[in-house]
Amino acid sequence: MDLRVLGCSGSIAKDSRTTSFLLDDRVLVDAGTGVGDLSLDELAAIDHILVSHSHLDHVLGIPLIADSILRRRLEEPVFRTLQVHALPATLEALRRHLFNDVIWPDFTRLPSPQRAIVQLQPLAVGQHLQLAGLDIEVLPARHTVPACGFAVQTASGWWVYTGDTGPNAELWQRLRGRRIAQLVIETAFSDDEHALAEVSGHLCPSMLAAELAQLDADMRTAITHVKPGEMAAVTGQIAALGMDLPVFPLARGDRFRF
Ligand SMILES: [Zn+2]
Ligand SMILES: [Zn+2]
Repeated sequence: MDLRVLGCSGSIAKDSRTTSFLLDDRVLVDAGTGVGDLSLDELAAIDHILVSHSHLDHVLGIPLIADSILRRRLEEPVFRTLQVHALPATLEALRRHLFNDVIWPDFTRLPSPQRAIVQLQPLAVGQHLQLAGLDIEVLPARHTVPACGFAVQTASGWWVYTGDTGPNAELWQRLRGRRIAQLVIETAFSDDEHALAEVSGHLCPSMLAAELAQLDADMRTAITHVKPGEMAAVTGQIAALGMDLPVFPLARGDRFRF
């Protein structure tokens, strides 16, 4: 599997893009501001968007992608929809707050209700999906809104993305014993903001260490969703913890092959 990191920041600033990962050119995992760096051809190649939860930094690209690719799709001999997969509560939030004909036109009914560019597909935690040749599992997450993560089977083991989450014992139970090629886990805040991490359903370095201690896998761990301006503090605090496993920060533009 080919993985492109389009965005892995907790918010925006120059050179910071919010969460978006592109798998094998056709499956997007979250649609943060990182999608804005894709060409129109690259956007038009996307068939599926997996959405971890309803927060703006993960969904804002969805209505804009629908708008950008619609003309291309209408020119193709067979009309291809953009399939958006998420938990039912997340789909309801997209319908009510984005595709509501106020914030953005309702692309779940455009260009016509019979042949709409966006199709919303409900997911459940534990479900396995086959999308664009990839075997994808929906993982539990613990956040302030209904949320999930995703695991994708690759030739080198599972690629695991936690989504936005606080402490999540259920996830480590589910992953126990598996071969993991890469774990992408959020660490949104530094330890100076431990209390904020707790109330907002995120992790900070000391909480990250407690999470990783629950999984005895030989894996490479990449941290994501660090707030702009906090990277030095977060990576310094992680280094000071002296964890056994290699932990490194993801960067926009990173590309991996698993
Ligand atoms: Zn969130
Ligand atoms: Zn987020």
